Amino acid sequence: MEYCKRCLYPANARPGILFDEEGVCSGCRLIETRMGMDFNEREKEFRELLNEYKARQRAKGNPYDCIIPVSGGKDSTWQVYVVKERFGLNPLCVSYNHTFNTALGVRNLTNLIEKMDVNLVRYTTAPGSAIRMAKYMLEKVGDVTWHYHAGIMTFPIKAAVMYDVPLMVWGEEGFSDLVGMYDQDDMVEFTKKKRQEHSMRGFEPEDLLDDPDCPLTAYDLAPFFYPTDEQLEEVGVRGIYMSNYLKWDGYEQTRFVMEKFGFETAQKRERTPNIYAKLDDIHANGLHDYLKYLKFGYGRATDDASMEIRWGRMTREEGIESVRQMDHVRPSDLDIFLKTSGMTEQAVMDLVEPMRDHSIWTKNSQGEWETNDSVVNHEDDEGVDAVRMPLNPDTPVIKPTKEKISRHSQTFNEQTEYVLL
Ligand SMILES: [Zn+2]
Repeated sequence: MEYCKRCLYPANARPGILFDEEGVCSGCRLIETRMGMDFNEREKEFRELLNEYKARQRAKGNPYDCIIPVSGGKDSTWQVYVVKERFGLNPLCVSYNHTFNTALGVRNLTNLIEKMDVNLVRYTTAPGSAIRMAKYMLEKVGDVTWHYHAGIMTFPIKAAVMYDVPLMVWGEEGFSDLVGMYDQDDMVEFTKKKRQEHSMRGFEPEDLLDDPDCPLTAYDLAPFFYPTDEQLEEVGVRGIYMSNYLKWDGYEQTRFVMEKFGFETAQKRERTPNIYAKLDDIHANGLHDYLKYLKFGYGRATDDASMEIRWGRMTREEGIESVRQMDHVRPSDLDIFLKTSGMTEQAVMDLVEPMRDHSIWTKNSQGEWETNDSVVNHEDDEGVDAVRMPLNPDTPVIKPTKEKISRHSQTFNEQTEYVLL
């Protein structure tokens, strides 16, 4: 397997990665362009755009200038801060509750609406629907979080139509960041197609209803039906990404929201060195990512350490050590899923079996799957030093915040059930 000579990504990374002649991946190159970019002009453009929508909404007598989809993660807090405090808009925050929450995520969402003093519309899926959808999609595509992505990507636009608020302000255009799918100059906007292809694995709820073998009902899938063209045109809905206009750096943003608004981090994670990203849903770094590991042979430690390396906050060698220790770890939240779904671990493994990527996984003579390579074997590859990202001395490691006491008293890794609300 070929691995990026700067970060840790393998050539089979999803959703697709390219290496240049120096062996550096498209994700690394994108961060490089972003680092050197002057965002002043973009920021001006962003301000004008926000002001235009704000004026329109206020002329209509609508109390909301824009919609901000939020989850309670670090990015949500940052987005609301920027839009409300720095640019002076009144946002309506919208959140889709997939029900597979961590106690920590719920505390951070509560903290966000309290500290920012904003209105929140939250759609909560029936817990039974959530588990039915997770089981079905696990079987179909090996993913227990399809309903999150469908909900997070669709409910805000439904709210835009419902409340007559045309502008949705999304945070990061995430695919650019991971693997450099888009260029910083593409100025990608939210579309139905992008949502369906990248976030919903190509499935609209209508497709699932048409499938006679699918046990899901319109009630289960209700928050995922996209508004009609007429509805969208009437409101004039548009979704923009803040990361196209402002210098997006999850690390700096986290430090800021921790200090200014008391955003809480995890204490310690099982499968990643990162204690500040994707804290709100219990399976993100756990079962969801473990399934990715079982399919493609790399996990969240690869993703998160690569990001740290690209920004000069971790050496490639430290990143490789994280991968060595964490990428393969069986997540403890798998037990919560097994208990709630009534499935056995073997049944989950059997479903993953045909989804293994044979470019990285091989069955040994005992019939067990083994990875046939790892970035661990590429620590001293030729050319690594030539493209090395120097460490930035101004970026100290983020230390865990003191855990707050709430009615959900378990710590992140000890949580034994989903926190619904
Ligand atoms: Zn790279």
